Amino acid sequence: MIKLFRFLKPYRIPVSGVLILFLLQSLAELYLPTLMSDIVDTGIVKGDIPYILKVGSLMLVVAMVSGICIIIASYLSSLAATGFGKDLRSKVFSQVESYSLHEFDQIGTASLITRTTNDITQVQQVLIMIMRMMVSAPMMCIGGIIMAVSKDAKLSLVLVVAIPILAAAIYVVAIKGVPLFKAMQVKLDKLNLVLRENLTGIRVIRAFNRIDHENMRFNEANRDLTGTAIKVNKIMAALMPIIMLVMNFTTIAIVWFGGIRVDRGDMHVGDMMAFILYAMQIMFSLVMVSFMFVMVPRAEASAVRINEVLDTVPEIKDPAEAKSADSIRGFVEFKDVTFSYPGAEQPAVSNISFSLRPGEVTAIIGGTGSGKSTLISLIPRFYDVDSGSILVDGVDVREMTQESLRAKIGFVPQNAVLFTGTVADNIRYGKEDAADEEVRRAAQTAQVMEFVANMKEGFGSVISQGGANVSGGQKQRLSIARALVRRPEIYIFDDSFSALDFKTDAKLRSALKKETVDSTVLIVAQRAGTVMDADRIIVLDDGQIVGMGSHQELLKTCEVYREIVSSQLSEEEIA
Ligand code: ADP
Ligand code: MG
Repeated sequence: MIKLFRFLKPYRIPVSGVLILFLLQSLAELYLPTLMSDIVDTGIVKGDIPYILKVGSLMLVVAMVSGICIIIASYLSSLAATGFGKDLRSKVFSQVESYSLHEFDQIGTASLITRTTNDITQVQQVLIMIMRMMVSAPMMCIGGIIMAVSKDAKLSLVLVVAIPILAAAIYVVAIKGVPLFKAMQVKLDKLNLVLRENLTGIRVIRAFNRIDHENMRFNEANRDLTGTAIKVNKIMAALMPIIMLVMNFTTIAIVWFGGIRVDRGDMHVGDMMAFILYAMQIMFSLVMVSFMFVMVPRAEASAVRINEVLDTVPEIKDPAEAKSADSIRGFVEFKDVTFSYPGAEQPAVSNISFSLRPGEVTAIIGGTGSGKSTLISLIPRFYDVDSGSILVDGVDVREMTQESLRAKIGFVPQNAVLFTGTVADNIRYGKEDAADEEVRRAAQTAQVMEFVANMKEGFGSVISQGGANVSGGQKQRLSIARALVRRPEIYIFDDSFSALDFKTDAKLRSALKKETVDSTVLIVAQRAGTVMDADRIIVLDDGQIVGMGSHQELLKTCEVYREIVSSQLSEEEIA
């Protein structure tokens, strides 16, 4: 957790303010019992009213100073802690943004969300506690002991008995409680995971009548968390009566033995009263410290999880010296590329070589799991190749900045993803400053107009979270429009026509053809009809290229292609 405190740096001033104020406050608190004993021993015993008023008003002032210190310090500590939380959250977020897909696979989306929210909150809360107690608890404890001993050294023997008993009780409770606190964090993670899966998978759960099953799963996770929380709280609840018991017995002992000493004339009554207050202060500061021992390990578990996110170095980084490739446009070349997912036994794609040129349409066809999506995700450098290289406009993708590389590409992913916002917002996602005319044109080409015209507010209609209020085919068309508005050099369509009916598919592709005559187009598809008229077709099987050429050529030479085509088209269509 210490490592995370570097994020407190911008808040040095409020933090030091808090520490100084609490120092002042504990000094004031330590001074009060002494003043009180003066009033009792000098003022009341001698009946000196002016003295009582004088010292009494001094007490009032000291108490007020202490109160004001606490108020300002609380304000400053909240300021520093919330600022710390804000900075840390934005740091974690931007770190996650820089992750390549590999790191996402590693930590998991649900856990990333918990780490950015709940875990940071945990650390933030403990931070406030630490700031408040770091100075005042040791001050009150040590200062209290010094003051108590100075009031009456012999009576301090009572504390020598009481403090170890208290410490032992706290120790036992902490030993039992801390592991449970840590377990709670893991159980909360589990609860979040189940909840998240339930919310995103609600349609499947309904469709398969798994509501009871999911209820059970959630209840189990919930009960598990609740059980641990109750156990922890029972243990913590036991602490308070023990503390009170020890404190009250200490008071009795002080009054008992103090009474004897006062009777003998070894001690003043006021000193004894002050002594009781110092004893309370010492014990309370011990209790505070013990609470910290419980809270810190809990936050420590969170801090470890946060540091894990911060310390993960993204696998894909921009080169130190980026090359630019502005002279030629739209050339892509795969040179003997092999790539495997981390942990996979076999490469997902291997020994891939081909090139794309502007003005040409290249199609990739192959069964599911043959590596089509994997292959094209290498072009925008979502993953880095294991061997071989990919050149875009003559430069290795690893030697360009990711930004300049991706600026050349209009990517339509297999799963169309939309964002909350209007239809126009979603299209403009491809090009922020696109004029209305450009948006309209992209929408026309992508056959978006067809359904947008029927929407109540046209381009201003709101798309709900995840695009839940549009159909699969409409989502695909919107994400095609988003790529089109960019007018990139290279278009990549990953199975982006699969949810369209044949008529819309044909209309879209003929419109697309006009729009992309000068660009490089790469289309991934399952349907033979979609790829037939491409300039070049690449047939992929088990991660390897088993055929490349035009429709007619492949029919003659490639067995896999013939099988795919004959399973989908009639004899006349093939010819
Ligand atoms: P296609 O798009 O041709 O249907 P993919 O390229 O999506 O096929 O998948 C090719 C292979 O790579 C599959 O066997 C799949 O299991 C594996 N794969 C895909 N994505 C991942 C991933 N993120 N991590 C590990 N393996 C993956
Ligand atoms: Mg795919």
